Amino acid sequence: MSTPHLASGPQGPTALRPLLDTVLDALHTGGRTRGAPLPHGGPGAVAARIRDAVGDVLPDRGDPDALRILVHAFAAGAADPAHPHCAAHLHCPPLAVAAAADLAATALNPSLDSWDQAPAASALEDLVTRALARETGHADALVTTGGTESNQLALLLAREAHGGALRLVHGANAHHSLPRAAWLLGLPEPVVVPAPAGTLDPGALGDVLARLPGPLLVAATAGTTDTGRIDPLPEIAARCAVHGARLHVDAAYGGPLLFSDRHRPLLTGLDAAHTVTLDLHKLGWQPVPAGLLTVRDPGDLTALRHRADYLNADDDTAAGLPDLLGRSLRTTRRADVLKLAVTLKSLGRAGLGGLVDRVCDLAQEFAGLVHDDPRLDLHARPVISTVLFRPAGAGEAAVAALRRRLLTTGRAVLGRARADGRLWLKVTLLNPATRREDLAGLLTLVHQAHAEGPR
Ligand SMILES: *Cc1c(COP(=O)(O)O)cnc(C)c1O
Repeated sequence: MSTPHLASGPQGPTALRPLLDTVLDALHTGGRTRGAPLPHGGPGAVAARIRDAVGDVLPDRGDPDALRILVHAFAAGAADPAHPHCAAHLHCPPLAVAAAADLAATALNPSLDSWDQAPAASALEDLVTRALARETGHADALVTTGGTESNQLALLLAREAHGGALRLVHGANAHHSLPRAAWLLGLPEPVVVPAPAGTLDPGALGDVLARLPGPLLVAATAGTTDTGRIDPLPEIAARCAVHGARLHVDAAYGGPLLFSDRHRPLLTGLDAAHTVTLDLHKLGWQPVPAGLLTVRDPGDLTALRHRADYLNADDDTAAGLPDLLGRSLRTTRRADVLKLAVTLKSLGRAGLGGLVDRVCDLAQEFAGLVHDDPRLDLHARPVISTVLFRPAGAGEAAVAALRRRLLTTGRAVLGRARADGRLWLKVTLLNPATRREDLAGLLTLVHQAHAEGPR
């Protein structure tokens, strides 16, 4: 048997080059086969096409054409976030430069659990995490797999800072990963504060904080997943200060508004938080995963200190080898920091801020089109880049079915959200290449799909 080609080493780039040509060609042909934001036919048809393309998953003898066949099928059956009509979720089209950088991290495969596996990667992570932490007014940051892990770590650090006891207080608008993290960490049932206008009500929060015994962690949201609303951070921070509660802000969605001079003021008060969740695989145009948790007091990170002789022996650490194990709950950890570093440096603050402004402007334009269309109801003017709308007078089942018709025919990918007791169609605009015509075209598709079903 011949020795397989490896991605790193002196021959790595030479081995990769023709394979990358195959991948890029298959991405192209697969995307052309799909010809739409989503594959046609719904889950059954997509699964059947994947079964046909794969054949035997683990054949006795390998197939030299596997890369081309599977990447083609993968692309043909993908939901493409770069299609302007793929706008359901906080699912961004990644920047080409970030995907290219990520290839280098994949090829060299550094692992950030010890310095001897990741010398440059650990030095780069140190620089980038501190720079991003400064954006939120904080001292340090941990790299995570996303908002869910960041929120979990925020609860863990808060629990440990308070000697193991803690109760979480969050708005009814908070992300589901927060109560789930409380459950995982064995904390008491969280207290849910009403959010009647879609944002946490500071008056109601003050009442809760006045009556509950501490220690308490308040979790506020800067950019809710369903509507993109931002909790009143200064008022919430003031209530926390009065009652001695710790504050976490889940800015998984809204955090990157910090890169925009125009939109940064929406996050005033963020720096009062003890910890902040940021996701750069949402408004940051990164390939998944690209999460961060910024931390005001680096002392909080001592809770994660952990010793494993083969990774961070005391004498190695004393001799100056960086101790990386305490920067995550994971052990083996890929160098997600490279794509972040490349993105920040290639686009700069102006480039990233410009992308943020662009998608926020698109959301305002889309809301304007909905507002001016008498056949549609607009939920509210967008705060970030999310717009909720529905066909006027449509029943709940009709709204849900319309969305599924668009999905199963592959025409458009819209989300759904419940707000003010009603079911809405949700558009999350994260594609800066979307044009005004695309937005109008999306509404045409909605009208068509609505006309196709029972009202
Ligand atoms: C997306 C999101 C999360 C979860 O982040 P993942 O990266 O999906 O784990 C948490 N909070 C908010 C507000 C989000 O929008």
